[in-house]
Amino acid sequence: MEGPIAEVNLQEMEVEWNGAIAFIDRDGVLNYGSPNYINSPEELRIIKGSKEAIMALRSLGYRIAIVTNQSAIMRGKWGEDTIKSIHSKLQKEVGNFDVLMTCPHRNRDRCNCRKPRPGMLNHASQIIRAECHSEVDWWGPKPKPIHPLDLMVGDRNSDMGAGWAVGARLFQVEEDVGITSVIERIIQDDAGDEFNPVE
Ligand SMILES: [Zn+2]
Repeated sequence: MEGPIAEVNLQEMEVEWNGAIAFIDRDGVLNYGSPNYINSPEELRIIKGSKEAIMALRSLGYRIAIVTNQSAIMRGKWGEDTIKSIHSKLQKEVGNFDVLMTCPHRNRDRCNCRKPRPGMLNHASQIIRAECHSEVDWWGPKPKPIHPLDLMVGDRNSDMGAGWAVGARLFQVEEDVGITSVIERIIQDDAGDEFNPVE
């Protein structure tokens, strides 16, 4: 399986699109994570406040792309139908997303989409605004974002790395505390966290 699994459903915007994309990790950020993966819709438990945070992003005019590593797929635990049923429940409980990108690969598959590589973010950006970054220079300066308000919310350094590679503002949250802990900063156009991808 090459490339990420892309679920695309560009939403009607209730306010004018601000041109930016909010890239959001899933497990530990919108729903509680698990060391054994989220394997079914029944295992998906939403963190309180996630729905309100997504509504706030919408009312600020962001388009929203979920970007999630799910190596259980290439480990053969389950397939695309399962990820789609989990994402269907996620959207019922939290709200709809413009794009949901899932990397099915393991480290050893050496794909371009497993975070911290930015393949899923670039793919989503290409779908939403027909523009994205090309090669990453991890040792160079942080790239300029396509839109200055682009942002990445995640709980792991791999999320911060992927966001860094597309120049996004970075908001690292504690696992299972989630997006609610940074939404006020996002509303205030905070510059985000410092992050060095080669430290
Ligand atoms: Zn991948």
